[in-house]
This record gives sequence, structure tokens and C-alpha cells, in this order.
Amino acid sequence: MATTVVIGGGVIGLTLAHELRQRGDEVILIDRKYPGAGSSAGNAGWVVPSIASPVPAPGLPATALKWMADPESPLYIKPRFDPGFIRWLWDFFRACRVEEYRTGRAALVSLAGDALKDFDRLRSEGVEFEMTQAGLLIIGFGEDGLDHYYEETDDLAEIGYQPAQRLSGPETRELEPALSGDVAGSVFVTDDRHVRPESLVAGLVAALRRDGVELRDGTAVTGFRRSGRDIVAVTTETGEIEADRFVLAAGAWSGALARSAGFSLPIEAGKGYSITVDDPNLRLQHPLDLIEARAAVTPFDGALRFAGTMEISGINMRYIKRRADAIWRNAQGYLREPVTGSRMRAWVGMRPMTPDGLPVIGRLPGSDNLYVATGHQMLGVTLAPTTARALAEIIVSGSSSVSLTPFDPLRFL
Ligand SMILES: Cc1cc2nc3c(=O)[nH]c(=O)nc-3n(C[C@H](O)[C@H](O)[C@H](O)COP(=O)(O)OP(=O)(O)OC[C@H]3O[C@@H](n4cnc5c(N)ncnc54)[C@H](O)[C@@H]3O)c2cc1C
Repeated sequence: MATTVVIGGGVIGLTLAHELRQRGDEVILIDRKYPGAGSSAGNAGWVVPSIASPVPAPGLPATALKWMADPESPLYIKPRFDPGFIRWLWDFFRACRVEEYRTGRAALVSLAGDALKDFDRLRSEGVEFEMTQAGLLIIGFGEDGLDHYYEETDDLAEIGYQPAQRLSGPETRELEPALSGDVAGSVFVTDDRHVRPESLVAGLVAALRRDGVELRDGTAVTGFRRSGRDIVAVTTETGEIEADRFVLAAGAWSGALARSAGFSLPIEAGKGYSITVDDPNLRLQHPLDLIEARAAVTPFDGALRFAGTMEISGINMRYIKRRADAIWRNAQGYLREPVTGSRMRAWVGMRPMTPDGLPVIGRLPGSDNLYVATGHQMLGVTLAPTTARALAEIIVSGSSSVSLTPFDPLRFL
């Protein structure tokens, strides 16, 4: 029986550990803190193949420049004079071209096409978590933004989705009475789902423990020991851990670890915030995608979560209150009345960002037994179970039923 070390207890590492264990591997999951300590617990929890698009998009460079001086903008790129970052930014802006964006969207929608089935399978394998099928309501104050989203979702039949519906303001409020009279309309996608992400992390941890996976919290991987093309052990502050194969799933921290294995993996951190209100006065029936605010609102059992902001400012978990407050304030404008509740909790997380907006899934060049699964940007929850299944198939049997070519780490060579 092979032993696999998975580095990182985010939603990607946890689902992968589960898939490998289901296939008979001995699995050791290592996290520098604890599962969910990165960006996998406090996020919006959307499972949204419908909006599986790369972050670098046409028009984004102009918007980013315009917003650079605004301390409350939903997108902020902090300049820094580091050759790796300058190269990343250059490639990111190049990926905003129409052709690259379309190709990226097709690849992501195709990968996300199995998401719902893979979430159902997780459940049938005894992983317990809160999951709701209420669709996604994309709402806006103006027709242009709504038209854009409506056109963007015209490829959903390819993954077996019902066509998106374009609803007027009154039709939207009929569906979601908590919305303000200023909302001009919506695009409604009925097939999308949402999960409570912290319950997903907890459910996976419980399933891994039940199935005999060894979880090592508070253990930071510092590097690798190799013999020729094989990695033989990871090094940690408290000693080495030997195994037959290794998977790097350390989210925004993956770039530095890949470098220590000799591969230059361009990953930047895309910081975001969420605010969760317990026992809210407003009851929402659907998750809301707020076009102008570029923010998300998700209803959970007994709570409402507001999330947003993309701050590319290096690896740091600093909570910048002013930006988080802006998410909250802007979101209130879409609602009938201000949200109150018994408790409010703030959270910060870092999305792992590649310059082309696509995840990196596969074997890392230069090693025969070191794999990577990261770079899932705003879609890590959506894509986790399918990424994990596809990579586990490759690790265990050498090939996968899912095409991973667009996500091959080789593209960064
Ligand atoms: C505000 C916000 C809202 C979001 N909303 C959604 C959404 O609605 N739907 C969706 O699909 N996605 C969403 N995302 C994106 C999603 O959260 C991420 O894509 C996903 O969590 C990434 O998971 P991961 O496992 O790759 O990384 P992480 O969750 O960051 O996990 C990485 C783990 O690696 C560990 N680690 C790091 N370095 C080391 C080391 N040296 N040794 C050992 N362990 C290490 C960390 O402690 C961490 O636990 C959102 C993100 C944010 C910030």
C-alpha cells in the first residue's frame, strides 16, 4: 500500500486526502496550523459552475488601475518591486485578452461540470455538511451588467444546466422579497448550490479521522529531501516525514514550497474578507451575486454571510477594516432594510491566484512523485471534489476521466 503525504488542510487538500484514502492509500495530511486555517472555512461557499470564469477578464486592467487609489475598492493590486511579482502581473494582464478569457472560461466550465455530482458523491461516502440547492441570483442596479452576465451564462447547456432566466425588478423581488426597490433585475441560475464551508471542512476532517487518515496539525513543511527525481521526505521544523508520493495543496503558500522543490510556480495571494451575521433579521432564499458591489451574500442555516474584495498585496492575513466595512456597506444597498443579528464575525482568507486564472493540477515537472493542486482562485470550493477525484485518479492509476490538460503545471515552464 502506498503512503501519500498531502501538504495543506484546505478544501483541496482535505478532499484529495479523502479521495486517496477511498482508493486505498495510507494518507498523512499536514497543516502548518489546522484544517480550514487558510481560505477554506469563512468563504461564501458557492458551488457555482455557472460563473466559473477566470479572474483575469477583458476590461479588468482598466478597472484595476482606476481602483488602485481607492482604499475601499473591491479590487486592489499593491505594486511591489519583486521580479516574480512583476512577471506574474504582466502575465495576469495578458490573460485579460478576450481569446484567453474565452479559452479559460471553457476549461473552467468543463472542469466544474461534474461539481454537483461530485458533491453528491462526497455525501454518499459519509461526509456530512450543510448543502442547499437554491440556485444563484445575480442582481444589479443597471441593465448593462445584467446583460453581460446573461450572455456569459449562455454556455450552461453544455454541462446539463437549465438555461439562466433574465428577470425584471418586480419578478426578482417576487422571488426574493428582501431585496430593495432599486434592484433593476437579475439573472437567475437555478442549478447552482451553496455549502456552509466550515461545515464542509469539519465534515471532511471527521470522515478522514473515521477512515484512518493521519492528521498532523501545527506542522509546517519547510522543504523536501530528494533522491534523484524522487522526493523521499518532506522536512518540517520537527523532523522529516517519509512517504512514497507527495501532494502540494498549500493554497496561496504553495509558490514558496514549489520553489524549494525546484519549480517556479507563479502563485499570488488574493485576499478577501467575510462578515457573518448570526440570527439575521432578514431571511434570504438565495445566494446573491451583487454585480456593482462585486460582493457575495450567502444565506446559511441561522446565519447570513457577506463576502468579497480581491486584494493582491502579497502573503498576509491583515484584516483591513476599511475594506471589509465597504463590502458590508455596499451590500446593504441591495436589501430592503439594514441587516442586524445576534452576533457578527469577521474573517480574512487568501485565494491562491495563478496569472492565467486557471488552477494548477498535476505532476510537478522535475520530480516523479510530487504533485500539485492549487490556484483555484475564487472557485476552490466549487472545484475541490472534482479536482480531488481527477488528481487522485492520476496519482493512483496514471490517468483521469477528467481532462486536466489546461491545468497542467507544465504551462509555466
Ligand atoms: C472572501 C472569499 C470568498 C470566497 N468564496 C468562494 C465561493 O463562494 N466559492 C468558491 O468556490 N470559492 C470561494 N472562495 C475561494 C476558496 O475559498 C479558495 O479557492 C479555496 O479555499 C482554496 O483552498 P485551498 O485548499 O487551495 O487553500 P487554503 O484553504 O488556503 O488551504 C491551504 C492550507 O495549507 C496550509 N499550509 C500553508 N503552508 C503550509 C506549509 N508550509 N506546511 C503545511 N501546511 C501549510 C495552510 O495552513 C492552509 O490550511 C472564496 C475565497 C475568499 C477569500
